[in-house]
Amino acid sequence: MIHYLDNAATTPVRPEAVQAAVEAMTQGWGNPSSRYELGTKAAARMKEWRGNVAQALGCLPEELFFTSCGTEGDNWAIQSALEVNRRRGKHIITTAIEHAAVLEPCRELERRGYEVTYLEPDRQGNITAAQVEEAMRPDTALVSMMLVNNELGAILPVGEVAQVIRRTGCPALLHCDAVQGFLKIPFSPKKLGVDLLTVSGHKIHAPKGVGALYVRKGLKLPPLIWGGGQEEGLRSGTEATAQIAAFAAAARLGRQTLEEDMAHMARLKEETVRRLAEEVPKAKLLAQGGAPHILAISLVGYKSEVVVRFLSDRGVYISSGSACHKGKPSHVFAALKLPKGERDGVLRISFSYDTKQEDVDALIEGLKGASEKLFPSLS
Ligand code: PLP
Repeated sequence: MIHYLDNAATTPVRPEAVQAAVEAMTQGWGNPSSRYELGTKAAARMKEWRGNVAQALGCLPEELFFTSCGTEGDNWAIQSALEVNRRRGKHIITTAIEHAAVLEPCRELERRGYEVTYLEPDRQGNITAAQVEEAMRPDTALVSMMLVNNELGAILPVGEVAQVIRRTGCPALLHCDAVQGFLKIPFSPKKLGVDLLTVSGHKIHAPKGVGALYVRKGLKLPPLIWGGGQEEGLRSGTEATAQIAAFAAAARLGRQTLEEDMAHMARLKEETVRRLAEEVPKAKLLAQGGAPHILAISLVGYKSEVVVRFLSDRGVYISSGSACHKGKPSHVFAALKLPKGERDGVLRISFSYDTKQEDVDALIEGLKGASEKLFPSLS
């Protein structure tokens, strides 16, 4: 029996998405560009799947371009926004708590002569629109701000930032990495007021290898990949129909139950916070985080990797921070300037629509056991 509480790293593929992928591979496996019936049927299904994801995201189908993952969407958005705005300037505003999929392209751009302002969060991970306004310059070409932080669950004020950009007449384009927000909190790109927005399939119970980039209608991007002209010529390559079919199924179902899923995850998160306070006094809540699915705590004085291993030996899977760090200290918790004992003990617990009461019970038992049986590792 496993207790999977690391849904911010990836999610199990839901059965309906598996089914949709199998159908796309066994029945509708034609190339959507082929002119005979097997192809035209696949093209019709592509249209349907694009519509499903667009509807779940709250945008027009023609504003949605399929990608291979969130990282691709972030890279594409950042590079193409700068290309579109190349006459405006070479200044970028982002935050110090973005995912590597945004930070690393920014670092590369710095090497190529761009200037990047990394906004620092407060101790709870909050960043304000006022910080963006203060950092804005006449040559700011791009603002890139995530919607939900993957390690803290903090919701960032992307909508307010869009208003600031509009009010001040700043020419910057606004990109939002919404990989951790999609189908976890209600929003739409239009309501937020963003130009570009990234989502990823494997965070919403679809397989890995598929994502999407929202491009506001009227914004003309340069192509990411040149070739056969798929995705309106912006991202050529034969469509990954099985992954896209699964992504569409997961998006459609996730949208149908968004409100109840949010309530379910929020209830489990609240219960975890309450029981940790009562039953595991060494656990410290690091950030309350407005998103219902992510909870950051620290088992102060214990090395998080050791705790993660202790729990995984008991079938409970949580993370010691973002899975992408592979054991390296998290830049997000470094940005919060936590004391060393708290930083070393950082743990991320993340829920899904499918998380059960038994999973929370096993987690609390496991953390209780860890804090009683392991030796604190602080010198
Ligand atoms: N952005 C955020 C906030 C994420 O949490 C992740 C994945 O963890 C990504 C981007 C990258 O998405 P993908 O794994 O689909 O490349």
